[in-house]
Amino acid sequence: MNSNSPQFKMNAVSSLNNHQLQEALARAKSGFIDKRRKAMAAFSEFDVLRQQTKTIKDHTLNYLDFYLEQFEEKATEQGSQIYWARNATEACKHIVDICKSVDAQHVTKGKTMIGEEVGLNAALEKAGLIVTETDLGEYIIQLAKEPPSHIIAPAVHKTREQIADLFHQHHQTEVQTEIPALVAEAREVLREKFLAADVGITGANFLVAETGSVVLITNEGNGDLTNTLPRTHIVITSIEKVVPTLEDLTAFLRLLGRSASGQTMTAYSTFSAGPKRNEDKDGPETFHIVLVDNGRSGLLGGEFQDMLRCIRCGACLNHCPVYGSIGGHAYGWVYPGPMGSVLTPLLSGLSTSCDLPNASSLCGRCEDMCPMHIPLPRMLRTLRNKAHETKLSAWHIRWALGSWAWLATRPKLYQPVMAMSIWILAKLGRKGKFSYLPLAGGWTNSRDMPAPQGQTFMSQWKRSNS
Ligand code: SF4
Repeated sequence: MNSNSPQFKMNAVSSLNNHQLQEALARAKSGFIDKRRKAMAAFSEFDVLRQQTKTIKDHTLNYLDFYLEQFEEKATEQGSQIYWARNATEACKHIVDICKSVDAQHVTKGKTMIGEEVGLNAALEKAGLIVTETDLGEYIIQLAKEPPSHIIAPAVHKTREQIADLFHQHHQTEVQTEIPALVAEAREVLREKFLAADVGITGANFLVAETGSVVLITNEGNGDLTNTLPRTHIVITSIEKVVPTLEDLTAFLRLLGRSASGQTMTAYSTFSAGPKRNEDKDGPETFHIVLVDNGRSGLLGGEFQDMLRCIRCGACLNHCPVYGSIGGHAYGWVYPGPMGSVLTPLLSGLSTSCDLPNASSLCGRCEDMCPMHIPLPRMLRTLRNKAHETKLSAWHIRWALGSWAWLATRPKLYQPVMAMSIWILAKLGRKGKFSYLPLAGGWTNSRDMPAPQGQTFMSQWKRSNS
């Protein structure tokens, strides 16, 4: 993990100066936003469904132990083997041990954010396994040796030309830049990997407690081939993915596709429950489910429990002006954008990521767009407060905010001091702006600060009411 604060600022500057990244981000951003807008315009039930799913998730989180045990019982009845992992080390150990127990050499993997979170690929490779990502975006970034930059579109930061170069280098084929040709090339390479795999690993979008089913949502069908062809299948999933019933699940499915990619429904919704039965034509011989906590149970019952409602749709990233400007890698860990700026400090510690809660204009679009109505701006402010109180934020910011708070809570002093300051600044900023201001270099380095017009709000208010 490298989500420390100085790195975030350097990453952000470097992202802003990366022209290829800016081109890729601009294209992706407008695509996501337009598709979601069109989908929502034809979906009058959005608010009702949003309230319904929020209620279901809040209820499930309040009784998470009950629903997880129910899921374990039902999944075991279906022949699945359940493993509990308190942290990343335990999760990786379970999975490596399963792979070793079946003498695996080749592993295919579907996209899994919890897999990224626990560093699964590194653990598998350290154990001598050959891992192939099968989601097209994940495959591209695996070739590029990069982490994902978006939770639903991992290679969104790459231009078509960059992908063509990667394929040319790794597949030793002609350079071709048309998307259908690139997709066909990847399909041909991946087909061999699917057939050679001893173990398939996927994540899960949802777990259904009443049936013990694992639900996987994809658009490429790679999850089904990863799930069905190898003789051993492993699901890695975090504990908050459980929902009580199949009927509850349908409400989430209707929201997820529209919020993520503007689709009424994603192309594949795969329900798996245990290994192949006698009457099944295909499927894995053994089916393992690794349930990962990794800090989530510590959020239950606290001021950040709402974050566990997240269904990883990516809408908050797509509508965030900060993410849209710097992309995902600048955030330094697995989860970018507004949800990452909350989740990363919660899971990895505020001391290594205290700049992330400040990576927001607090415009509130993330909360407006979030299908689970997660109060991201409120949580970002709470994390800022915590960074301030625990002296993790920079001393000059703490000093400035502390001084302002002291003054602002003394109105008889505050009003004349502000009137005087604004009068002085209005005189100094005769051109109507400042190109440089002490203590505000972060602002004036890249833009002008408008000069005050010479009156405080209070004096204008008094005048307009006199
Ligand atoms: S926080 Fe909300 S909008 Fe963002 S990924 Fe999670 S569910 Fe989607």
